[in-house]
Amino acid sequence: MTTTSDNDFVLAIHGGAGTILRSKMTPEREAAYHAGLRRALDAGRTVLADGGAALDAVTAAVMALEDEPLFNAGRGAVYTSAGKQEMDAAIMDGRDRAAGAIAGICGPRNPILAARAVMEKSDHVFLIGESAMQFCRAQGLAFEESSYFYTDQRWNALQETLAMRRSGADDQDESRKHGTVGAVARDRKGNLAAATSTGGMTAKSPGRVGDSPVIGAGTWADNETCAVSATGHGEIFIRYAAGHEIASLMRYAGRSLEEASRAVVVDMLAPAGGSGGVIAVGRDGSVSLPFNCSGMYRGVVRGDGVLRTAIYDEPLMDFAKD
Ligand code: ASP
Repeated sequence: MTTTSDNDFVLAIHGGAGTILRSKMTPEREAAYHAGLRRALDAGRTVLADGGAALDAVTAAVMALEDEPLFNAGRGAVYTSAGKQEMDAAIMDGRDRAAGAIAGICGPRNPILAARAVMEKSDHVFLIGESAMQFCRAQGLAFEESSYFYTDQRWNALQETLAMRRSGADDQDESRKHGTVGAVARDRKGNLAAATSTGGMTAKSPGRVGDSPVIGAGTWADNETCAVSATGHGEIFIRYAAGHEIASLMRYAGRSLEEASRAVVVDMLAPAGGSGGVIAVGRDGSVSLPFNCSGMYRGVVRGDGVLRTAIYDEPLMDFAKD
């Protein structure tokens, strides 16, 4: 993909690699996914067009995706095998590698704000479970009842997954298994940031944490190389340190962003059973959006303001600036 001029900005987002199978997609649902992606791009674009920071843009974009019940994060998060929602999120600032992450929480309306509070208001990088919830309360973050996070779609997916497990059937439908949301950006000053938020994988064991909040796996940002947000089979992404591996290939092997991210997603993760993808922006404003499965809800916006989104293995579609 083309790079951006020195004072241009770029924002890329994803709504998860666990897309609905094309055969089950309807025009109405497809339009709803594109619209949800556009709302998130627009939220980040507003920040960046005003000269705001990449960190604020990825926060705004991920909040919009968390608020959208179609995606597996915040409202609309998937359920554990015990029928509970346990959310994970992380944020990283490429200027100084400041980072914050939370795991296993349900209550804060926007888990990405919890991760950001850990980064900015605590001495730590990673807080989990009930203590993380206490921290969020002490920070005055907005909370919601469990009914706010509930969707029929995710609850039914849990019941179907549990029934398949009982009968020993193999689940081929990626949309039932996973999903996640994320954003990466380069602002006009050349600073990078990444943010990722997820409900994890449907019917996961209580207490299971995936790659999304693990710095260097599902989330990474460093001004010298790139910002990365991942989505996919978290256990494999953790084992291959996906985000950091992309940055390392750039830093130590001189690979371009596109070469590095494809090497990790296609050549490393796929053979290891790590279905999914990443969104990445480079220090030069380059963008890479590789995935090794049937699709990834994704979008890009640059300084020209045109919102570009796609779902399957297809070119990004342009939606003119309104
Ligand atoms: N990576 C997420 C996790 O393993 C799920 C996903 O992105 O589909 O928790």
